[in-house]
Amino acid sequence: MGIRIKPDGVLGLKVKIWGHLFMEVVRADKCSFCGACIGVCPVKVIDEKDEKPNITGRCIGCGFCYAQCPHTPFNPKSDVSKLFESSFKHDVIGYVKGVYSARSTDPEVLKCAQDGGVVSTLLIYAIESGFIDCAIGSGLSSKEPFKPEPIVAFNKNDILSCAGSKYTASPNLRALTVAVDEFEANSIGFVGVGCQITGLRKMQYHDYGALKYGLPVKFAIGLFCSKTFYYSSLFKNYLVSKGIDINKITKTEITGGKFIVKSGDETVLSTSLKEIEGYGRKSCEYCGDFTAELADISVGNLDSPNGWTTVIVRSNVGEKLFRECIEKGVLEYKEMKIEDLKLTIKIANNKRKKATQPAVGSSTS
Ligand SMILES: Cc1cc2nc3c(=O)[nH]c(=O)nc-3n(C[C@H](O)[C@H](O)[C@H](O)COP(=O)(O)OP(=O)(O)OC[C@H]3O[C@@H](n4cnc5c(N)ncnc54)[C@H](O)[C@@H]3O)c2cc1C
Repeated sequence: MGIRIKPDGVLGLKVKIWGHLFMEVVRADKCSFCGACIGVCPVKVIDEKDEKPNITGRCIGCGFCYAQCPHTPFNPKSDVSKLFESSFKHDVIGYVKGVYSARSTDPEVLKCAQDGGVVSTLLIYAIESGFIDCAIGSGLSSKEPFKPEPIVAFNKNDILSCAGSKYTASPNLRALTVAVDEFEANSIGFVGVGCQITGLRKMQYHDYGALKYGLPVKFAIGLFCSKTFYYSSLFKNYLVSKGIDINKITKTEITGGKFIVKSGDETVLSTSLKEIEGYGRKSCEYCGDFTAELADISVGNLDSPNGWTTVIVRSNVGEKLFRECIEKGVLEYKEMKIEDLKLTIKIANNKRKKATQPAVGSSTS
C-alpha cells in the first residue's frame, strides 16, 4: 500500500510543499533567490538553476521550503517584535533604538568596503571577540566575474573577501545552512538584504520554522535595498554589450540614481538606474522592505557622507554590538536623528507604496 498523497501535502499534513512554492513564488516571478528553500530541504533535492531554485529529485512533501520562503505567509509561533521591545517604532523605517553615521577605523577595511566598512567591522569584531564562530556574507565566485557567492567566513580575511556590494542576488541563506550542517557552527552572524532577513526570522519565529538553522544566529545585519538584479542579464548581456570587460570589474555602486562600474580607480560606466531597470528581479517589485526592518542593525549609504555608512540600530543585541565596537575604537561615529534620514525615509516610503506585498516589519506591533 502506497502513501496517500492529499492535495495539502503528505499523510494529510496541512502544509504547503515544493509544488506550491514553485507555483506561488518561483513561477510567479516572486523569488528573490535568498537560498532558504535550497538550504533547508532535508533531502537536498532543491538546487539552483538560472538564479532560481530548481527541483532535481523527488520532493518528500515536508513543506520546509515553503515555510521559510520570505514570500509566503509568515505565521509566527512567537512574537518577532519582542526583539525590538525597547525600541521606538517609526511608521516608515520600522524599529529604531539609535541612528548613526559611522565608519571603520581600520584602513584595511576601508580599502575594500562599499561605504564606511561598518558591516565588515562589526563582523570582524564579533568573530575576534568570540561572540560568533563565523559569519555569513556574500563573496565573489572564482568561476564567473563579479558573481556573488555566499560564503561562511571564519576570520578577518574571509570577511574582507566579502566586503563591497554586489547588486545581483546572492543566496546567503543557503550558506547559513552549510555553516550549521557542515561546520557545526552554533553562533553565527548573518548579513543580508531585507528578504533574506525575513527568511532568517521565519526560520527563528515561524510556526514551522527551521529552528536548527535559525537559532544559532546571534545577530542579523540588514542592508538597505531598493532592488537586486539578474547576474546573467546585467553582467553577461548588458555590460558586455557596452564593451566592458567584466573580468576587470573591481567595484559597482548605486548612488544618486546612477549605476557605476569601476575597474581600479577608473570609472568604466556611469549610467542612470533607469537604463538598467529591465534587468532587475521582478520579485523586488513585490517587496516593500527597503531598510531590512527585521534586522538587529540596518545599514546603507543614503543620508551619510561618502565613505560613511548610515546605521539604524534596532534591537538590544544590535546596540550592544555597535556600542562595543565604538568603545574598542574599531568604529567611529556621529550621532544622527531620525529627521536626518530624509532620503532613507523617502525611498523606503516609495518602496512601500509601490510594493504589492507589505514590508513584513510593518505587520509586527
Ligand atoms: C543588492 C543591494 C542593494 C543595495 N541598495 C542600497 C540602496 O539602494 N541604498 C543604500 O543606501 N544602500 C544600499 N545597499 C547597501 C550598501 O550598498 C552597503 O552595503 C551598505 O552601505 C554597507 O556598507 P559597508 O561599507 O558598511 O559594508 P561592507 O563592509 O562593504 O560590507 C558589505 C557586506 O554586504 C554583503 N553583501 C554584498 N553583496 C550582497 C548581496 N548581494 N546580498 C547579500 N549580502 C551582500 C557582504 O557579505 C558584506 O558583508 C545595497 C546593498 C546591496 C547588496
